[in-house]
Amino acid sequence: MTDRYASFVQSAAGRALVKRLGLPDPPRLRRHHPGDPLLPGPALLGAATGGRLAEPITKILTSAGVQLADPAANTAAAGTPQRYAALLFDATGITDSTGLRQLYDFFHPQARAVLPSGRVIVLGTPPQECATPREATAQRALEGLVRSIGKEFGRGTTAQLVYVTRADSTATGGPAHSAGPLTSLESTLRFLLSGRSAYVSGQVIRVGAGAASAPDDWDRPLDGQVVLVTGAARGIGAALAKVLARDGARVVALDIPAAGDALAAVANDIGGTAVQLDLTAPDAPTRLADHLAGRHGRVDVVVHNAGITRDKTLGRMDAERWDQVIDVNLSSQERINDVLLERELIPTGGRIVSVSSIAGIAGNRGQTNYATSKAGVIGLVDSLAPALRERGISVNAVAPGFIETRLTARIPLVVREAGRRMNSLAQGGLPVDVAETIGWLAWPASGAVSGNVVRVCGQSLLGA
Ligand code: NAD
Repeated sequence: MTDRYASFVQSAAGRALVKRLGLPDPPRLRRHHPGDPLLPGPALLGAATGGRLAEPITKILTSAGVQLADPAANTAAAGTPQRYAALLFDATGITDSTGLRQLYDFFHPQARAVLPSGRVIVLGTPPQECATPREATAQRALEGLVRSIGKEFGRGTTAQLVYVTRADSTATGGPAHSAGPLTSLESTLRFLLSGRSAYVSGQVIRVGAGAASAPDDWDRPLDGQVVLVTGAARGIGAALAKVLARDGARVVALDIPAAGDALAAVANDIGGTAVQLDLTAPDAPTRLADHLAGRHGRVDVVVHNAGITRDKTLGRMDAERWDQVIDVNLSSQERINDVLLERELIPTGGRIVSVSSIAGIAGNRGQTNYATSKAGVIGLVDSLAPALRERGISVNAVAPGFIETRLTARIPLVVREAGRRMNSLAQGGLPVDVAETIGWLAWPASGAVSGNVVRVCGQSLLGA
């Protein structure tokens, strides 16, 4: 579970060796600690002519305490070059391919001016909402720029593209849970700029027309929310329980009875409650629904995290391995969603977040069962999102890449090293990185982010 190479590289001897031999150089990533400022330095905001988001973004950044730099500061005439913790560019004004030159003009002079663990965020209009084919083409082109910057800038810098719907994107206020996409743009920018998104890079995130409500305190974005976390006894689930409780949630931690002691330790540590239940038991959905109804009267956020692997190549795989994996990783999620939704225990403003995997995107040798289940999780999100949007409930998936857990510690060394290094950040992620990403999707403020699959993989080459 520890990356000894990364620790060695950060020592003086390690640095020298890495430089001499041209070995991978995993940077130390900036991660979130409560009370941290959003950024450790100034941000530079640029915009294409006619963009519609520069003004709301300026408001969001200013209210979040981000220092906005003067764009003229880095010209040849200015003395010491200014360094930035983030570069943001509103590309919504680009309406055809010739306008893409504005990206070059903004990013080229700043390419070496980004601080370690910097953030690059480009904002666009979803191509399907564009007025003309030329505009849609130009907006689609943004993906190539962002993914390349993620691979090029290095030193822990991440790059993302955020497509923001045109529908009411200027609307704010309104009744609870209907503050419009700008609230979710704010939650998304706060997540992406902060250390919470340390291991998320090269992603395309869509902020749609769903409903959302801003928290009273952005340091406790889940205040008072009742959150169910399955598979909470260890690994990513245990990190999730901690992160969500830190952010103000009342956590219901669930795991199998055999993991009862570890589960109780997690729940006690965070002042949450523990539910011992095998999700594949025939009566699991009703027992869980009864528990949530009796104890809390509702569940605002459901995080389907429990998962198993039973690896074998397909020719050698017995039917039991296939059935178990599909049942735990996919079918149990469907059954639980059905019962909780039918009994209206997930209220308006509710959230469902399912844990997929990059194996479900790229496929993996020896994991036909696992990859099928995890691709199915993406299908579940795609198919539920439109109907649930009508009910004010969002549904998203996160797809972790190589995360340092017991699961990955069991992988043979050579394969493990390859998995760890084959991404833009040259290291594995930590359970907390997945937890922070799920946390953001769970915030009441993120309601207009629905139907997304966000990879937490350091921009892994697998399935890219
Ligand atoms: P883990 O094995 O450490 O934890 C999984 C937890 O789920 C365990 O506590 C286990 O007891 C519980 N669980 C399993 N079957 C259950 C059942 N029937 N009912 C209730 N609980 C059950 O795994 P992890 O690495 O923390 O993974 C968490 C999730 O992330 C899984 O869905 C996994 O597929 C996914 N994931 C992990 C990685 C990684 O690199 N670790 C990568 C991609 C996806």
